[in-house]
Amino acid sequence: MRPGSICVQAMNKIETSPERPIPDRGSADKRLPHEEPAGERPAVQVDRLTKAYGPVRAVDGISFDLYPGETVALLGGNGAGKTTTLSMILGLLKPSSGSVTVLGHDMSSRPIAALSRMNFASPYVDLPQRLTIAEMLLIYTKLYGIRKGRRRVEETLERFDLVALRDRPLGKLSAGQKTRAGLAKAHINEPDVLVLDEPTASLDPDTGDRIRGDLETTAKVGGAAILLASHNMDEVMRLADRVLMMRAGRIVDEGAPRELVDRHGRRDLEEVFLAIARDQTGHEHRETPDGEKA
Ligand code: ATP
Repeated sequence: MRPGSICVQAMNKIETSPERPIPDRGSADKRLPHEEPAGERPAVQVDRLTKAYGPVRAVDGISFDLYPGETVALLGGNGAGKTTTLSMILGLLKPSSGSVTVLGHDMSSRPIAALSRMNFASPYVDLPQRLTIAEMLLIYTKLYGIRKGRRRVEETLERFDLVALRDRPLGKLSAGQKTRAGLAKAHINEPDVLVLDEPTASLDPDTGDRIRGDLETTAKVGGAAILLASHNMDEVMRLADRVLMMRAGRIVDEGAPRELVDRHGRRDLEEVFLAIARDQTGHEHRETPDGEKA
């Protein structure tokens, strides 16, 4: 995904809002995929979402729900429609048809209310080059209307191991350090919905591992719903409760990572990915409730 100024655009839509109480998320448990928690409303509802550019259907009628505490990964080859999907979920791109509802707010008509409780990170998005990490985080606390913003900045610097780099301008960070700064920014408002594009790209294995641990905490302890686009299959195996396999704008298969591997009779998720990406038949691979292929 190369969303350009996706993050800045999203931030521009956010107005200062009073800080809402932090929900008690201590009871968020890991759920089985597809298990819809009784009485719990999805954090994100995507319904027959379509984006057409002339004859090109970048996204072609996809539907899925994402629940609090759940991590869902979008997998698909180049041009499968992942970026377009994430952009519509963030309210940056108007769907041709279909709808996105985030935390009960329709993203076409009420994006501001949802965006104040969402956040986004991508290593491909440029952060303000001249600001130091601490300055950038403080500005975001003001944009999100966070009371005791300085304290939140200190906690966030600590959490993302950025204390020693706090006064370094973003333009002078290594690629991995920038990625960490972007993830810190993405957590500054303790979002209920976190959209991440390749969150650990350019991180060394140790830092990547620690960030993945952090993201597990964000979802499983913090209760955030995470939508993740990643090409790192080990990362998807570790983080995702559910995988949506996309091809040519459609969801052609879905399931828990291990379930997909077993169902396709493959050794690992990478083999499943290759099989689906290279399938020229256009068939979907999803199973109907009675076990038949869709
Ligand atoms: P990648 O992994 O390469 O980033 P992706 O899955 O994110 O790919 P998208 O960027 O969503 O894919 O693109 C999906 C399809 O829509 C592609 O065929 C792309 O060429 C097309 N597309 C995207 N934006 C536009 C646009 N503004 N005008 C025309 N076609 C577009």
